[in-house]
Amino acid sequence: MIKYDPKSLKAEEFINDEEIKETLKYADENKDNLELVDKIIEKAKERKGLSHREASVLLACEDKEKIEEIYDLAEQIKKDFYGNRIVMFAPLYLSNYCVNGCLYCPYHSKNKTIPRKKLTQEEVKNEVIALQDMGHKRLAIEAGEDPINNPIEYILDCIKTIYSIKHKNGAIRRVNVNIAATTVENYRKLKEAGIGTYILFQETYHKESYEYLHPTGPKHNYAYHTEAMDRAMEGGIDDVGIGVLFGLDKYRYEFAGLLMHAEHLEAVHGVGPHTISLPRVKRADDIDPTDFDNSLSDDMFCKIAACIRIAVPYTGMIISTRETPEIREKIIRLGVSQISGGSRTSVGGYCEEERPHDTEQFDVSDNRTLDEVVNWLMRAGYIPSFCTACYREGRTGDRFMSLCKSGQIQNCCHPNALMTLKEFLMDYASPETKKIGEELIEKEIDNIGKESVKDIVRERLTKIEQGERDFRF
Ligand code: SAM
Repeated sequence: MIKYDPKSLKAEEFINDEEIKETLKYADENKDNLELVDKIIEKAKERKGLSHREASVLLACEDKEKIEEIYDLAEQIKKDFYGNRIVMFAPLYLSNYCVNGCLYCPYHSKNKTIPRKKLTQEEVKNEVIALQDMGHKRLAIEAGEDPINNPIEYILDCIKTIYSIKHKNGAIRRVNVNIAATTVENYRKLKEAGIGTYILFQETYHKESYEYLHPTGPKHNYAYHTEAMDRAMEGGIDDVGIGVLFGLDKYRYEFAGLLMHAEHLEAVHGVGPHTISLPRVKRADDIDPTDFDNSLSDDMFCKIAACIRIAVPYTGMIISTRETPEIREKIIRLGVSQISGGSRTSVGGYCEEERPHDTEQFDVSDNRTLDEVVNWLMRAGYIPSFCTACYREGRTGDRFMSLCKSGQIQNCCHPNALMTLKEFLMDYASPETKKIGEELIEKEIDNIGKESVKDIVRERLTKIEQGERDFRF
């Protein structure tokens, strides 16, 4: 038997199958133990998080009243740590060349129907201009794994190109990277290129399913993939984003694995994941999601989000346009801090007039423009934020986490959200969105605690009106 050890650097010891099975058994045995459930909810109220075992009991609990309590607490914790801000980003697909055989992904190497495409630097530039013209400041770059077509040098060139483009008042100020697991040396190069978060989805924590779902290519290696975040941290990247692709395996197994991964990063590196993404398998070219019989209901998906929110209160949570506006509205309330908007999931998609479908990685379920998403968020009581200040001010890794834990991060995030929203309103918003936004900013200035900060923000908002850009705390 392989022993469980969160501090181990071996995948099967920190994501330990036996421990997950024991956890699920413990959760089943205790899901009706309302005394224990109450105790765990009380602990969660201290806002110091929960263990994977405790959180799994809450996820298994079916008592309606307790579930409502969990939802209320998730909502409250979100308000306490993230206020009513939602950070905006967009994915940028660089290349769909891929040597892996992932059964759920249309980029798999055996797919002969999908046109293969890789952006030239000129095309990257055009995509970035289109994204800047929508108002985006933060991107997540995406690529298949292909050492010949998309080597690390290609990714680094693209990052350089993206940061170099200053079109009108636009700028991409943070590039997050979602590329396949790689070496410490390559992670170091990404860090030096000035990336924000390194994102890698585990897809599934269940080793056997993982190997079945990734039959060929370098991604087949479960340990290499699962230990990637440790290598990324060794390479100096201290903001990492994890996630599973829900629908591939049993959600309760994945949920426990995800939290164990977070515990492992905290135990070994002193800092947990910066973000957790919640993707679900979607239809795509030659992919039918019903081939995977582990799909979960929308209600359970929301419950997972709420339980993650209270289990790891300091970790950002991300929802993409894989979800419909209806689900996004419901789940944002329960603890999501970042969403994408106006996304195109095809290589070169932003330069096309109409959304192209031929090279899409998955079908987008929220087809609204960025302006429409911003408008909708504000109507629902949120502040869309285009802030990228933290990592540019060196607030990453444990520095970010300690500011977050002490609640001080609010003093930066709230004013930064207002100033970056103001930029969006001045440069990109429709007249209606601008009107709603101006009223929102006026109202939200009053929620800035310190009088001196309020004065600085007012002064900077005036300067933004006069054409200056990129203020930050
Ligand atoms: N190629 C890289 C890797 O192997 O990690 C990363 C990028 S891939 C472009 C981004 C993510 O999209 C994958 O990690 C996977 O979770 C997700 N994805 C793949 N196929 C999908 C599908 N049919 N529906 C929804 N998400 C999908």
